[in-house]
Amino acid sequence: MKVLVINAGSSSLKYQLIDTENEYVIAKGICERIAIGGSVLCYKPTGKDPIEVKKDMKNHTDAVKMVLDALIAPDTGVIKSMSEIGAVGHRIVHGGERFSSSVLITDEIIKTIEELSELAPLHNPANLMGIRACKEIMPDVPMVGVFDTAFHQTMPPEAYLYGLSYDAYREMMIRRYGFHGTSHYYVSRRAIELLGKPEHETRIVTCHLGNGSSITAVKGGKSIDTSMGFTPLEGVPMGTRCGNIDPAIVMYLMDKKNWDIKKVKEYMNKKSGMLGISGVSSDFRDLSAASESGNERAKIAVDLFCYHVKKYIGAYSAAMNGLDAIVFTAGVGENDREVREKILAGLDFLGVDTDFELNRNCPRGKEAVITKPGSKVKVFVIPTDEEMVIARDTAALAKR
Ligand code: ADP
Repeated sequence: MKVLVINAGSSSLKYQLIDTENEYVIAKGICERIAIGGSVLCYKPTGKDPIEVKKDMKNHTDAVKMVLDALIAPDTGVIKSMSEIGAVGHRIVHGGERFSSSVLITDEIIKTIEELSELAPLHNPANLMGIRACKEIMPDVPMVGVFDTAFHQTMPPEAYLYGLSYDAYREMMIRRYGFHGTSHYYVSRRAIELLGKPEHETRIVTCHLGNGSSITAVKGGKSIDTSMGFTPLEGVPMGTRCGNIDPAIVMYLMDKKNWDIKKVKEYMNKKSGMLGISGVSSDFRDLSAASESGNERAKIAVDLFCYHVKKYIGAYSAAMNGLDAIVFTAGVGENDREVREKILAGLDFLGVDTDFELNRNCPRGKEAVITKPGSKVKVFVIPTDEEMVIARDTAALAKR
């Protein structure tokens, strides 16, 4: 089945057309600057040169129309007509407690996703715009929603509850949800295959390290704890997000600086983390260059990041009563050898015998094992593929 995978943001829409029979990506691309002027569609048929189309898109419906036009264009297209698309899979950020797996999208499901917008005010409404646009243009094509939070719904109460009153959970749904679930699921599945052990015996820490980062403890193939929480602000310090801090700092900042909620939110989400500490950039490539040319704060930022990731590996090894594998994935995890080296240094006490030479030489963005052959704990670099999970789930549900 040919599945169109859609990842809609507030002003962007990423897409991939995937043939699920052979898991081949036929074409992919992105629409940017939707509804804000200067819109552009990037379209890349696999194995061919990318094409850029500059044309105003006043909303997501325009964007989806342009994607379809590009896919069926007589000369540069990859399919003959829209009817070749068997189903559409949508990435949805927040599924709350309502969704622990992917679902066929109905009007009732749309309503539920809408209700959950309260928990993800930036993301769910944007995801819904993508759903509505596709529904308008392809009303008869089945659509499936795949949730970032779904994989983490297996966490036990001791992991998902905060030390607040139980009413905060019961009345306001304040709990840990976790994010990047599709990625943690994909790489942990692959790691289980690579380990070659029965799934129920496996204990894996998956490190999704990108612009946003999260670490997950995957025991017996299930997420039992994860570093992001009620929102994607919790956990390790990230590109521009602060990650874990003493909650009292929020009150202190508001008091000292006379900031309102909006200001604190912006400060902790956009001006903190690697950017805030280094004063240079949120991008690890820039940080590494700055650090090499002697910028002390850039070095401290990266050290702090690695230190926090390492602490999670230790904590989750204890939570799972042991460890069989560590997985690195996403932009930083797949590409930044120095970050991996800093995180893995000194973990031999856990049974991690890293081959630092292998780590240094392993090709960027390719699957690799970076531990020595006898290492009790294996360390894998596994490129994530959230779109493939969405395509697989979509085909499976649409065929039913
Ligand atoms: P997002 O969270 O936005 O999906 P990604 O997983 O794509 O992010 O990761 C993006 C980040 O990956 C960049 O901000 C950059 O810090 C890092 N990155 C990408 N390529 C490299 C590289 N070659 N070396 C080091 N870091 C890289």
